[in-house]
Amino acid sequence: MPKKWVYLFDEVDLAEKRAKNWEGVRALLGGKGANLAEMTRIGVPVPPGFTITTEACNAYLAGGGKFPEGMWTQTLKALRAVEEKAGKRFGDPKNPLLVSCRSGAKFSMPGMMDTVLNIGLNDTTAEGMIRLTSDPRFVFDAYRRLVQMFGSVVMGVADEAFEEVLAGYRRRAGVSSDSDLTADDFKAITAEFQKIVRQQAKQNFPTDPMEQLSLAIEAVFKSWNGKRAIDYRNAAGIAHDLGTAVNIVTMVFGNMGKDSATGVAMTRNATTGEKEIEGDFLTNAQGEDVVAGIRTTRPIEDLGKELPKAYGQFERVARRLEKHYRNMQDVEFTIERGKLWMLQTRDGKRTAQAEVRIAVDMAEEGMITKREAVIRVKPEQVDFYLHPQFDPLARKRAEKIAAGLNVSPGAAVGMIAFDADTAEKWAKEQKRQVIMVRPETKPDDVHGMLAANGILTSKGGRTSHAALVARQFGKPAVVGVAALDIDLETRKMQVNGRALQEGEWISIDGTTGEVFAGQVPTIQPDVSDPYLIKLLSWADKFRRLEVWANADYPRDAERARRFGAQGIGLCRTEHMFFETERLPHVQKMILAKTEEEREEALKKLLPFQRADFEGLFRAMDGLPVIIRLIDPPMHEFLPAHDTLLQEVTELRITRRDKAELESKERMLAAVESMREANPMLGLRGVRLGIHIPELTKMQVRAIFEAACRCAKEGVDVHPEVMIPLTAHVNELKIQQTALEEVGRQVMKEQGIDVDYKFGTMIEIPRAALTADEIAEYAQFFSFGTNDLTQTTYGISRDDAESGFLMEYLEKKILPENPFASIDESGVGKLMEMAVRLGRKTRPDLEVGICGEHGGDPKSVWFCHKIGLNYVSCSPFRVPIARLAAAQAALGEANLDK
Ligand code: PEP
Ligand code: MG
Repeated sequence: MPKKWVYLFDEVDLAEKRAKNWEGVRALLGGKGANLAEMTRIGVPVPPGFTITTEACNAYLAGGGKFPEGMWTQTLKALRAVEEKAGKRFGDPKNPLLVSCRSGAKFSMPGMMDTVLNIGLNDTTAEGMIRLTSDPRFVFDAYRRLVQMFGSVVMGVADEAFEEVLAGYRRRAGVSSDSDLTADDFKAITAEFQKIVRQQAKQNFPTDPMEQLSLAIEAVFKSWNGKRAIDYRNAAGIAHDLGTAVNIVTMVFGNMGKDSATGVAMTRNATTGEKEIEGDFLTNAQGEDVVAGIRTTRPIEDLGKELPKAYGQFERVARRLEKHYRNMQDVEFTIERGKLWMLQTRDGKRTAQAEVRIAVDMAEEGMITKREAVIRVKPEQVDFYLHPQFDPLARKRAEKIAAGLNVSPGAAVGMIAFDADTAEKWAKEQKRQVIMVRPETKPDDVHGMLAANGILTSKGGRTSHAALVARQFGKPAVVGVAALDIDLETRKMQVNGRALQEGEWISIDGTTGEVFAGQVPTIQPDVSDPYLIKLLSWADKFRRLEVWANADYPRDAERARRFGAQGIGLCRTEHMFFETERLPHVQKMILAKTEEEREEALKKLLPFQRADFEGLFRAMDGLPVIIRLIDPPMHEFLPAHDTLLQEVTELRITRRDKAELESKERMLAAVESMREANPMLGLRGVRLGIHIPELTKMQVRAIFEAACRCAKEGVDVHPEVMIPLTAHVNELKIQQTALEEVGRQVMKEQGIDVDYKFGTMIEIPRAALTADEIAEYAQFFSFGTNDLTQTTYGISRDDAESGFLMEYLEKKILPENPFASIDESGVGKLMEMAVRLGRKTRPDLEVGICGEHGGDPKSVWFCHKIGLNYVSCSPFRVPIARLAAAQAALGEANLDK
C-alpha cells in the first residue's frame, strides 16, 4: 500500500497515531495543517479541507519535481470527500467548489512561502457562480485574484504588472480602494490579467481546475526552497530539511457584501501582553488584503459594532482556542454572509514584554503552572527590559515629526535607508546605524530588516508583515504612519511638511509609535516591570545556582543588587587605578627607583582603594564580595610606546622644551625597559603580585581596613580576596601566605575579626589540571573563562574576533564563538575536571565563574550541570542569568537555537 500522503482535516487521529505525538503531527502536517485539523476535532468552525504532508514535499523535491507515488490519487480522493462535505463539486459549472492552496511548515514563516486562492475558477465556473450568487462583481473580483496570484506565484509573472492595471482602473474610476470598482471593471481586469500572463509567461493561464490545483501544489512545494524562505530560515534558525505541507481548503469569502469580513487577530495584545483581543479587519474583502497592508484596516473592536453576532462568536472561539492551546493565539478568520469560519490558529508571536506578562497572567489564571511560566520565557527576552529607551529629557526637546502604530517596542536611531539591500549594505559593510523605511515590507525585505536598528512603514497594521517580523526579531518598529509619503524614485520622504532624504538621521520609538527627526540620545532603563519581577521571583524558587555580578564601583554593585545579584563575583581593582587623580600615583609606583619612592606612592593609593571597597561592602551588606588583586601588565598604566617615541622625536628635532624632553625621555626609557613581546602572557596576574609584593599587600590592607571599618559600623561584610592567573600551586603558596598575613595583621590592628576567604581564578589550563593541588591553598575558585578560553585555544581574543574567528564561524570550522558560549568539549572539560579535583581536596570549595560566559544562558546551563555554586555576570545580565539558572534546574532550557 502506498504511503499516506494526504490527511483530511478530520483525520487528525490517524496523523497522531502515525506521528506518535503532537510535535510529530506538526512536523508531518505543518503548523497550519495540524491546527486546522485540531480545530476541526474540537468543533471550531473550519471550512472542509485536507493537508498534503511535509513528507510529500520532501519526496517531491528529492525526486526532481515529481509527485511521489500515490499522492495525486489520494489528493483526488480527499477532494471528493471535501466536495461531499461542502455540497459542491470542483470544476462543476453549476455549483463549483473553489479551494485555496496554502503552504504551512512546522514552524511558522510568515509570508515566506506561497498561497493561491480561488482555485477552480475559469470562464465557465465563473458563469455558474454568477448564477448562484447573482453577484458578478464578487465573482470577477475572485477570478482576477486567482489569475493574479496564480500568475505571480505559479507562473513567475512580476506582481507590479498586475498592480499597475489595478491602479489604472482606480484612477480612471476616481476611487482609492479596489472594493469600489465595479463588476465590469473586474471582468475587464480579469481579461487584462490573463493577457499579462500570456505575454510574460508565454503560456496561457490554465483553465482546467485540476491543472490549476496540481500546479499550485507544485508551486508551494517549490517555494520551500525559494530564496526568501531560505534567508528566513537562516535568520530564524529553522532547519532546511523540514519541508512544507500544503493545505487545500474550501474557499469561504469575506468579500460577499457588507455582512462579510475577513481579519486577523491576536487573543491578547502582542505588544504589551494585556488581556484584550487585538487585530485588524476589513469588511467585504479577501484575507490577503488585510495581511498585505494594501488597504488600511480597521481595529477589531469596530467589528463588534458592525457584525455583533459574528463577533460574539469569534470572541468565544478565540477564548476557547487560547484555553485549548494554553497559549496566546494568532488567528485568521473570515465571515461569509454572517457565518464565522476560522482559517488558521497558531501560537502568536509577541514582544518580550508581552511574553512575560502573558506567562505570568496565564499562570495566575490557572491556565499554566508557574513552572511552565518560567520555562516559557527565553532568557534572552529578558534582555529587552535592559534595551535602550530614549532619554526622557532629550525626547521632550526632540523634533517629533509623526506618529504611527507602536508595534515592536524599544528605541532605535539610524540613517534612513529606503530598501532592504541598501539597509543591509550600509549596516554590514559600512557599519552605519540604519532605520529601514518602506511603504510596507514584504518577505523579500527580511535581510534589510534584520540589518537595521529599526523599521518604519507608512502602511500596514498591527499584524502586517513588518510588525510580525519586527516583533519576532526584537527590532523596534513603527508602522502605518499615514502621513509619511515615500518617494522611492527620488529617495526622499515627506512627513507633515518635513522633507528628509535617504541617509539622514531619524529616531523611532517602537514603544509609543513616535517618530523623531535626528538622533535622539538613548538611556538604559531599569528592571521595574511588575510582571518581570514576579516571573523572576518564581524563577528564584526553582534555581540552585546563585547569581552574582561583576561590579567595580558601588553604583554598579547597587544596580546589580537591585537586579537580584546575591554577591559580587569580580571587582577588577585595576579599573580604579585609571581614574585621573590616581593614575599619577600608579605611574610613580611603577617608575619608582627606590623602595621608599614606591612605598610613598602606594600610601597615596591606599585611601582611594579603601574608600572604593568600603562603598562596595556597604552596597553588598550581608553578601560576599570578591575583590581581585591587580591583573593587567604594568604597561597598561603608562603612555603608549609609539606615542611617546613620536613625541620625544619631535621634541628632539624642534628643541622646543628641554624640561619636557627630559621627562618624556625618562618615561620612554621606563616604558622600553618594561616592554614585553606578549604582555598578556607576560608579567601580569599573580606574577606581578610576586614581582612587586608591596602592591598587592597594599590592596589587601585596603580590603581588610575597609572591611573592619564597615564591620565596626555594623555592616555584615564577607570579603573574598582573589588572586588572578595562577598556573602553579607554588605561586599561590607564596602570594597567598604573604597576603593572609597582611589580613590577619590588619584585623589585629583594628581589633575586629571579619569573615574572609582567599582564593584564585582558574584561567590557565595548568591550574585546572592541577586543581587538587591548588585547592590546598585556595578556599574558592572562580573560572576566568575569558582567559581560560584564550589560553586553552591559544588564541588572542582581540585579534581573533576582529579577524579569523569570524571566518571560522562563517565556514563552520567552529560551531559557535567560544568567547560567547563556553566551549563545552574543550574549555568545559577543563572546568569540569577542576571542579572535581578541587572538591576532592576541599569538599566545601566554593566554585563560580566570572568570565563573560557567566551571563550567557547556554553557559549558565553548563555551569549548573557541572555543579558550580554561582555564576557572576555584568549587572545587566543578572535577570537573564536568574531565569536561565531556573530553567537549568528545571531541566528545560529555553535557548535560542
Ligand atoms: C577572565 O579572564 O575571564 C576574567 C574574568 O578576567 P579578565 O577578563 O579581567 O581577564
Ligand atoms: Mg582574566
